[in-house]
Formats: sequence, C-alpha cells, structure tokens
Amino acid sequence: MNSKSFVWHPYTQMRDWADFDIITKGKGMWLIDSKGNKLLDGVASMWCNVWGHSKRELVNTMIKQAKRLQHSSLFNLTNDQAELLAEKLVNFSPGMEKVFYSDSGSTAMEISAKIALQYWQNIGIKNKTTFVSLQNGYHGDTVGAMSLGYVPLFFSKFKKLLFPVIRVPVPDKYRMQKQFTFAQYQEFCLEKIERVFAKSNDIAAFVMESGAQIAGGVIIYPQNFQKKVSQLCRKHGVLLILDEIATGFGRLGSFIEYQSQSSVPDIVCYGKMLTGGYLPLATTLATQKIYESFLGPYEDMKQFFHGHTFTGNPLACATAITNLDLYKRNHLISKIQKKTKQFEKRIEEIMDLTLVGDVRHKGMLMAIELVSNKDKKTPISSDKKIHQKIFVEAKKHKIYLRTLGHIVMIVPPLAISKRELDFLLDGTIETIKKVTKDLN
Ligand code: PLP
Repeated sequence: MNSKSFVWHPYTQMRDWADFDIITKGKGMWLIDSKGNKLLDGVASMWCNVWGHSKRELVNTMIKQAKRLQHSSLFNLTNDQAELLAEKLVNFSPGMEKVFYSDSGSTAMEISAKIALQYWQNIGIKNKTTFVSLQNGYHGDTVGAMSLGYVPLFFSKFKKLLFPVIRVPVPDKYRMQKQFTFAQYQEFCLEKIERVFAKSNDIAAFVMESGAQIAGGVIIYPQNFQKKVSQLCRKHGVLLILDEIATGFGRLGSFIEYQSQSSVPDIVCYGKMLTGGYLPLATTLATQKIYESFLGPYEDMKQFFHGHTFTGNPLACATAITNLDLYKRNHLISKIQKKTKQFEKRIEEIMDLTLVGDVRHKGMLMAIELVSNKDKKTPISSDKKIHQKIFVEAKKHKIYLRTLGHIVMIVPPLAISKRELDFLLDGTIETIKKVTKDLN
C-alpha cells in the first residue's frame, strides 16, 4: 500500500494495491497518467462517459457557466439551467411531467422510493408500504438503494440497516434452472410477480433496472419482459419505478430505454451519462398524477421533504443541456445502433476462449463471464483475484478494463470510434487469453 496516499478507494482491498496509476489528463477516449502512459477508457469512467474526455463543447459550457453562476439553491429559488434541463427531460420522457434533481444515481433511487411511499399516503392509502424488486437488481450504495437492489456479495454486511423488500426472480437465461426452457422460465418469473401482487394489497412499488441489470451480473431482459411487468403493475395498482441510470441515454442502444421496452413507468431515474459523464447529476422524474398528490393546503404537510445542497446545480444542468444537444446534433443514437454490430461480430470468437462461459451484449455494453468449468458454469473463484489480473494485463494492452467479480465488462464511451472499439475488443481478447495461460 502506498503509505503516502490519503485516499481510500471504492470496492477495493487496499492491502492488495501497492499504488494506483495517477490519471492527470483525459483526451478523447484516452486517459493519460502522470508518467505519460495512455489507457483507452474501456469502462467509460464507471459507465458514464459519452464523448470521451475533454470534449470541447462540454468544457466550453462548463467554463461559460462557471463564470456566470456556479451554484444557487432550488430552496425558494430556481435557476435558468435547472428549468431548461427539466423541460428537455420531460419532453424526451413519455408520460413524465416533473423532475426532481439530485447528484448521484443512489440519491435518485432513494428519492424514487420516498416519492412512491408518500404518494400512497397523500391519496389516503396508508397500507401500501412494501417494495418489490428483482433478484440481482442494483440501485446504488446508500441505505435505501441497497435495500431496493440487494446484491448479497456487496451488501450482506449491511443487512441490519436495510428495509425489507420482496424479491422475485429475474429471467436469467444463463443461470436459470435446467428444467425450464427460456420461454417457460420467463413465464415462471412473471407468474411469481403476479402472485406477489395478487396476494397482498400493501405493495407501493415495483423497482427494476430498465432494459437490463448491470452491476448484478449483466442480465439482459428478453423481449417483452419489462412490458409485461409494466402491464402487471397497472393491473394490480402498483407503481413502477424504473432505474435507467446505467442503461438509458444510449448504453443499450436506445435513448429512452423504457420507451424501447414499451413499458410505462410512474417514476424513472436518470444519472451517469446525463452530463456526458462530466459532473455529478441525477434526476427522478414523475408523472403528473404523482406530482399532484403532493399538492394541498400547507398545513396538510404534503410537500416532499427531500433536498440536497446541490439539488439543481446550474453548472451540472448546463453541462447536461449541452450534452443532450450533442446527442441530437451528432445523431449519436443511430450511430450507436450501427456500432453495436462491431460487438456482435466478435461474440463467437470470444465464446471460443477457454475460460468464457457466456457473452452477453446489447448496445454499447458487453459482459464476458469467466468460468472454471463451462458445463457446470462455475464462476472463477474469487481467490484467483481475476479482477486484478485482468486489470493489470489489460494495461499492458493499453486499455482500462474493470471486472464485476468474474465478469469482464466492456463499457466504452458511447462515441468511441470504430478503430478504437476494435482496439478495445482486440485488447480484451488478448488480455483474457494471457490471463487464462497464467492461471493454468
Ligand atoms: N442504479 C444503477 C442501475 C447503477 O448501475 C448505479 C451505479 O452503477 C446506480 C444506480 C448508482 O449510481 P451512483 O453510483 O451514481 O450512486
């Protein structure tokens, strides 16, 4: 461990890291360290970078806005950038009418749960207090977010802090029980959800990531699954909260993922790529029906008791506005839809690698699951420290890769060029080959 550093890193066994490369610059798709080494950013700086680093338009907006107004509060006041961005987001998001700002995906999800819980109280239905979510879902690291999206490996130590949530199975094709066909398994999952909804009249909301689960192991929902969940929510009077923090804004190939899934949320959360990955900003959007339930005489105390210091920060909002304009001007989503084929072409080659049990891909996201036994689907044991081996080897190929346990993730900035994406895919394949050799 580098005794000179005062920084405590996230999700990191600090004893295992003698030191960390110090990133001092970012240019396009590349991160540059203090020694001048370049690394292609294969994780989009935690799944949020859209245009690469130092994008002129975003930097110019930040400078311009920083000179004009850096921060002003949404308590009793508003600011032009927060107003403009909210209008844009509502226009993009079918069914949504109001935007509540926060500064991370986790806070956006906390807010969604609080809004849902209070909504039922506002309309006089006091018993609807239970949340239902999908197994393996992930919604962030704060206490409420951990309750909603419980990943046992990450959160078992914090169980005492969490509120109870009913969890239902997710249609995981790779790891479903053998007695099912995939179509049967999807039906089984939907039936479970319906049974939970039918059994109790106390369910406030169903919470799920939109389009796919990412941090819980990259499980891409089959066609119509989310649509059917959405229909079940309507049928049983359960609010649907969708988490598009990692999957929206083009990561899975669509701008608004819930739209492409033909689903109808009551509340939806955005984050990560909202500012192009340049500043912390997240939003929780709600329908008019939900918003209106919070209106009433002051003495009824129906207002939403939630707010952060940086709620609606104008610098972040201005950056998000420029980012969204760039999506449109550059036709980013249609470019992504073409680029996704570059991933598809490599799947067979990756599947043939000795350790690869499964490859899952959608849009600008690929997960490569490493197993020690392909038939038994046994994940590579964590004591092999595969995450660290992959990271170290990938650097030799000039790429920055991060795994989710035994799953190698390829999550590049969305605007990555064809050449750079090939470089990233080639480097990842070579990395896996070399790590495999070293393990044997
Ligand atoms: N929801 C999902 C689906 C996520 O993937 C993440 C982060 O990876 C979060 C919520 C939490 O976001 P943040 O890390 O900004 O708190």
